[in-house]
Amino acid sequence: MIITAQKPLQTIIATVGKGPVFLIGCSECATLCHTGGEEEVQAMKETLKKHHVLVTGCVILDPACHLQNDKRLLRQHADAVKKAQKILVLACGNGTQTVAEIITDADVICGTDTLFLGEIQRANQFEERCQLCGECILDQFAGFCPVARCPKSMLNGPCGGSIDGQCEVHPDLDCVWYLIYKKLKEQGKTAQLRCICQPKDWSKSTEMKRSI
Ligand code: SF4
Ligand code: SF4
Repeated sequence: MIITAQKPLQTIIATVGKGPVFLIGCSECATLCHTGGEEEVQAMKETLKKHHVLVTGCVILDPACHLQNDKRLLRQHADAVKKAQKILVLACGNGTQTVAEIITDADVICGTDTLFLGEIQRANQFEERCQLCGECILDQFAGFCPVARCPKSMLNGPCGGSIDGQCEVHPDLDCVWYLIYKKLKEQGKTAQLRCICQPKDWSKSTEMKRSI
């Protein structure tokens, strides 16, 4: 899931100005992150009204990163979109760019910061799990990703700094190399750690490509 955090309200208000503004949320990741679901869009609508910003309408896209679905849903709100000078999107950067591709005659504003691809641990608690490297090597590491979960992305770890199984960089995180070793030991497979892992071939990463 794409993890987002809503931008500070003051930042949003400053960017939106006096509006008029049309609000857009997303039915998927932003809903699960509580940054741009129905509830958050309605709350934003009320907040903007209290700040004397005219809101022309709102819609929850399904999901915001789906170009054709967005075109179809936004057509249903064409009048309200046309009246707006600002489009505030409470979705990830990807969803916001999809909207900006469709609505070209108003300022499209992203109301969130996109943080990472991660797991929901519990309500409003997320952890990074993948950096989209394009060459998944989880099978070598007992299902734990050292690229995304080790702040030093150590492929041949641990770094030696962990304390009681916690990461030296972020002590609130488990050291992923501690987790890898523990699981491989349970499975009687620690011998596979004797192999030196070669540097990853980052040319396989699609992060900087336009499409696959
Ligand atoms: S090895 Fe690469 S693709 Fe697999 S989880 Fe880690 S970053 Fe993602
Ligand atoms: S303590 Fe573990 S997770 Fe933290 S940087 Fe070192 S190897 Fe990586």
